[in-house]
Amino acid sequence: MARYRAAKCKLCRREGEKLFLKGDRCFSNKCGIEKRNYAPGEHGRRRRGKPSKYSIQLREKQKIRRMYGLLENQFHTYFEKAAQQKGITGTNLLRLLERRLDNVVYRLGFCSSRAMARQFIRHNHFQVNGTKVNVPSFLVNPGDRVGPRQKSKNLFLIQESMKTIDTRQMVPYLDMDPNKMEGEFLEIPSRDVIPVTMDEQMVVELYSK
Ligand code: SF4
Repeated sequence: MARYRAAKCKLCRREGEKLFLKGDRCFSNKCGIEKRNYAPGEHGRRRRGKPSKYSIQLREKQKIRRMYGLLENQFHTYFEKAAQQKGITGTNLLRLLERRLDNVVYRLGFCSSRAMARQFIRHNHFQVNGTKVNVPSFLVNPGDRVGPRQKSKNLFLIQESMKTIDTRQMVPYLDMDPNKMEGEFLEIPSRDVIPVTMDEQMVVELYSK
């Protein structure tokens, strides 16, 4: 599966806000936004005029897409699925993204970033309901239990990531049992508890043109 391989901090600098793509580094003074809070490139520091409606919609879409680590085609496929579901399309979109296995592994604290979660899932380190799953886009359902496989529980990077669990705020739709090293996806979340500050309605407006 194709993925973005260039410098991740540039993505945050382009959007002018932290997208938390690099784990612990995002909380340190090495963060690209902390050091250079302007857009990347030769003209990054240039003052820009008032953004157009289209530009605002595009930037909101890019922020959400980049935060979840998806390429344009993958993201658009999620939008189409969301539009076919009953309810508010923007909320449906975020709900689908939150159900991705790489997102759940990240939010449970087994990995310090979605990119790390994605790689570890690909390398057969995680299971859902006791069965190995190596597809990062696997959609987790309410009641599903997610955790590292027995042979992977002592991996240094997973252990290190788990040390930060106490300092992270767990979302209410996940329940984590640190002793068993297993978490449960409790329910499809409502919009107000999904910790995404971007305006998903802008994505709907952009794709509906
Ligand atoms: Fe973004 Fe993290 Fe890089 Fe900071 S360290 S710019 S939050 S990816």
